[in-house]
Amino acid sequence: MFLKHNNRPFLIAGPCSAETEEQVMETARELVKSNIDLFRAGVWKPRTRPGAFDGIGVEALSWLQSVKKETGLKTTTEVANALQVEQALEHAIDVLWIGARSAANPFSVQEIADALQGIDIPVMVKNPTNPDLELWVGAIERVQASGITQIAAVHRGFSTYGESIFRNEPYWEIPIELRRRMPDIPLFCDNSHICGNRVDLRSVAQYALDLNYDGLMMETHCDPDHALSDPQQQITPGAYAELIGSLIIKNETTDDVDFLKHLDEVRSQIDELDLEVLNLLAKRMKLSEEIGLHKKHNKVSVLQVARWNEILEKAKDMGRERGLSEGFISHYLSAVHQESIARQAKLEESGKG
Ligand code: PEP
Ligand code: MN
Repeated sequence: MFLKHNNRPFLIAGPCSAETEEQVMETARELVKSNIDLFRAGVWKPRTRPGAFDGIGVEALSWLQSVKKETGLKTTTEVANALQVEQALEHAIDVLWIGARSAANPFSVQEIADALQGIDIPVMVKNPTNPDLELWVGAIERVQASGITQIAAVHRGFSTYGESIFRNEPYWEIPIELRRRMPDIPLFCDNSHICGNRVDLRSVAQYALDLNYDGLMMETHCDPDHALSDPQQQITPGAYAELIGSLIIKNETTDDVDFLKHLDEVRSQIDELDLEVLNLLAKRMKLSEEIGLHKKHNKVSVLQVARWNEILEKAKDMGRERGLSEGFISHYLSAVHQESIARQAKLEESGKG
């Protein structure tokens, strides 16, 4: 399959948007030196607010053809409807991608999938803007059902409200679960749209490679400060070459016998501990049911916010002393507390006690 190498990441780079023929050509000429696999450029740009630069449109597709002619690079662009699919195909674009906003809309994905019936072209499906794994899986399934066989998933992060160091929160557990459910679909990281800035690009790219991602999509522009879209996150082809060169590429496994032996030993200790934790959790739930009955008999409500706060704060302190992050403790205890409350509430409903 075109979208995957066995021993190195598949590299996609190019500007957020095709702005002028010179900008596209200059960026491409420089990127060839990094040995990229695919040149990206948005031609139709989905912009949050009206009035922003929304792409050159069909005219820019011929610039991508020039890129291919001059540099030999294969090209990709975003398509959001049937007409755009048709125009991209007419201009011999090599790979299409479905953007995050389209992926969130099954009508759009279905329209694109229908336009792809009977056509043999690789398609990349970005995650939907909202953190909904089923929508992402559904979009991939719609493309698969149209007969497309070469499909990759692109993780570009998820919209959230409020402060975050990321432009789009990565929620790494979602692409990890996608990988578990669809292990044959190559998974790429679009660290540019996750970060929304230049400084974190490298660490997010490395994190993705540490999670065994199959490739990276990164926005590169010959003059990023003056880019007409996403200037904050675009980097020059020179900075790109440096970043890619600094990444450490890992293998999913190795045949080294000593490594595998040690891995097995430590993993069996982990399995034992997991069992212990499960036994303790089961014991804890029994106790919380006992309390539930006690509350029921005394007509006391299931939830006491003060007690929940006390548990959480105490655990955060104890966690900190043990090197466990606050985020983790609060995730873990929230799950335990939810389960505990649900069980107690069930006792209220049932005739029990
Ligand atoms: C893009 O890649 O330029 C783009 C618009 O991405 P997304 O659909 O992830 O927002
Ligand atoms: Mn962009």
